[in-house]
Amino acid sequence: MRRSLIAANWKTHGSLEMVGDFVKGFASGIELRADVVLFPPAVYLSTLAGLTSEFVQVGLQDVGVAADGAHTGEIAASMVKDVGGSWVIVGHSERRLDQGESDELVAHKFASALAAGLSPIVCVGETLAQRESGDAFAVVCRQLMAVVDHCGAAALLNGAIAYEPLWAIGTGVTATPEQAGQMHASIRAQVAGLDESVAPALRIIYGGSVNPANAGSLFAQEDIDGALVGGASLQAASFAAIVAAV
Ligand code: PEP
Repeated sequence: MRRSLIAANWKTHGSLEMVGDFVKGFASGIELRADVVLFPPAVYLSTLAGLTSEFVQVGLQDVGVAADGAHTGEIAASMVKDVGGSWVIVGHSERRLDQGESDELVAHKFASALAAGLSPIVCVGETLAQRESGDAFAVVCRQLMAVVDHCGAAALLNGAIAYEPLWAIGTGVTATPEQAGQMHASIRAQVAGLDESVAPALRIIYGGSVNPANAGSLFAQEDIDGALVGGASLQAASFAAIVAAV
């Protein structure tokens, strides 16, 4: 019922050469059983969009709130669309931590993406300390509800949720399929409590050290609808193997 979504978050990695090599490597003979979205550094978005439009979608790792104006360094959602992007990530934990992005700012970014006709992936997730103190779901809920309060539950269907426990991002430690599956089920139940019609169709993807070896067991969980992949998305072969695990 839900089509899987596999996203590549390249963070601040890559070059023009890498963009070209990746597209050549990934495009060769791959059969897509999922929606595939690549999130390169912003400066490579336009080039990547031109190379990949036939078989995958592209997007930005973040987006500004304002539609335009005097906001040095910000990129408006309409500009992402203008160069061929169709997705954005909002609220990645690295931005929440490094740039101090609040739940409210993330919700406004989600809304600005929707207003421009883009699909936003909102990242939610707890720290290790929050998990160990039993607060993981409360934290995830608070982050999610900021978006729901601002945009409405139905708006989630125009994008996706990425559950990314911070202790699993870039650490090589993956949540077990059961840990991730439980959190995804809890998120879906929370959304069902708000709007029963939204929950069954909502895509909830997992992020945190996903690789070709663990992708299959994560995707086997009923409520895991794909992955947001960092490190293992930088090589076409390993990202293609994750896509093939769907
Ligand atoms: C991420 O950047 O969202 C991520 C999950 O990274 P990694 O796959 O490297 O843990």
